[in-house]
Amino acid sequence: MNTTTCTDAGGVADSLADRFEATFGAAPDGVWAAPGRVNLIGEHTDYNEGFVLPFAIDKRARTAVRLREGSSGKDSRVRLLSTFGDQGLVAADAASLSPGAVKGWAKYPLGVVWALQQRGLDVPGFDLLLDSNVPLGAGLSSSHAIECAVVTAMNDLLGAGLTAEDMVTLTHHAENAFVGAPTGIMDQSASLRGARGHAVFLDCRDQSVELVPFQAQDAGLVLLVIDTKVAHSHADGGYASRRASCELGAEVLGVKALRDVGVADLEEAGGLLDPVTFRRVRHIVTENDRVLQAVDTLRSQGPARIGALLDASHASMRDDFEISCPELDLAVDTARSHGAIGARMTGGGFGGSAIALTPVRDERQVRDAVVHAFVDAGFTAPDFFTVTPAAGAERLS
Ligand code: ADP
Ligand code: MG
Repeated sequence: MNTTTCTDAGGVADSLADRFEATFGAAPDGVWAAPGRVNLIGEHTDYNEGFVLPFAIDKRARTAVRLREGSSGKDSRVRLLSTFGDQGLVAADAASLSPGAVKGWAKYPLGVVWALQQRGLDVPGFDLLLDSNVPLGAGLSSSHAIECAVVTAMNDLLGAGLTAEDMVTLTHHAENAFVGAPTGIMDQSASLRGARGHAVFLDCRDQSVELVPFQAQDAGLVLLVIDTKVAHSHADGGYASRRASCELGAEVLGVKALRDVGVADLEEAGGLLDPVTFRRVRHIVTENDRVLQAVDTLRSQGPARIGALLDASHASMRDDFEISCPELDLAVDTARSHGAIGARMTGGGFGGSAIALTPVRDERQVRDAVVHAFVDAGFTAPDFFTVTPAAGAERLS
């Protein structure tokens, strides 16, 4: 975990500190940042104890925090403000947090506080100002960016001595038990353990991480994120049913998790599983294999050679795992036919974003083609971002 002061971001941190002081009447104890993430490859493999290859992106949440000292020592009052929208100040009591009780964005920072308390840490009241440029709900994990910025801040301020792995576990607990979102450990691992110019090769079984060079720009490429703006109403149910299929598959095949099934085992598995469960299992098994191949390829040949793996990942999610949607398929197909060397939906599915690894010279053409294709299909206009692998969570001042 890198919590050293990042000098080149000093100006940004100062202005957030100034805004904090104008809002709360005193300077913050510090400013911390944590990025959103994009998953390059490895979808739905996390809860199957498999492999993922996300990276921390150059969009992040910043948080200025001051622990409160009341007239009779520390008090438990919490005041939270986000620069996003017009949501006003949120007040809470750090001494009486319970899962499910907090609504709105405050559940992310307060979930972290609650999870720290569950670990036996005494968290006093505090003031917090949040400012994030991670787009909300675009599949770039704006919620984990908040949680990771807050846990990094609290770890420093409380002198808790948590390791990056501890903070991954803690934010996982916050997101699952307090926020109520059944997610794996990928997003916070990328946010907390990412590094500039690298993807995070994460083994979700033992949480071990290897940083893998991913310098798209050196290969004349850009990673384009296409946000379809689609948030399908069945995303939650779809996620739960895919998890259930994976658990059923592992149980029938007699393994702890689908991570333990290899590509060579698939033929035999086909005879043991019903057709739908088999296709779900085949996605996980082949996707794990694609992550390993992507890591090897990045190391030995560089980003220009991973296109076919991205394409195969998308086909597997579309046909076997059935978590794509017409908008994602159109974004992927159009990007591919207008210059992208590989493209896939990324994130949980049923909407959200696609990524397209695109030669820099073709980026404009790909964007224009996707916009036109969406207009022709009568879909809502998509959003575009380009992302590069950036530093993980850190203290800014
Ligand atoms: P994702 O994490 O994919 O962006 P989520 O639905 O998990 O989508 O998280 C989005 C939620 O995170 C928003 O609804 C909001 O509550 C919170 N959030 C994200 N960014 C901000 C922000 N800058 N200010 C306040 N809340 C935010
Ligand atoms: Mg989220």
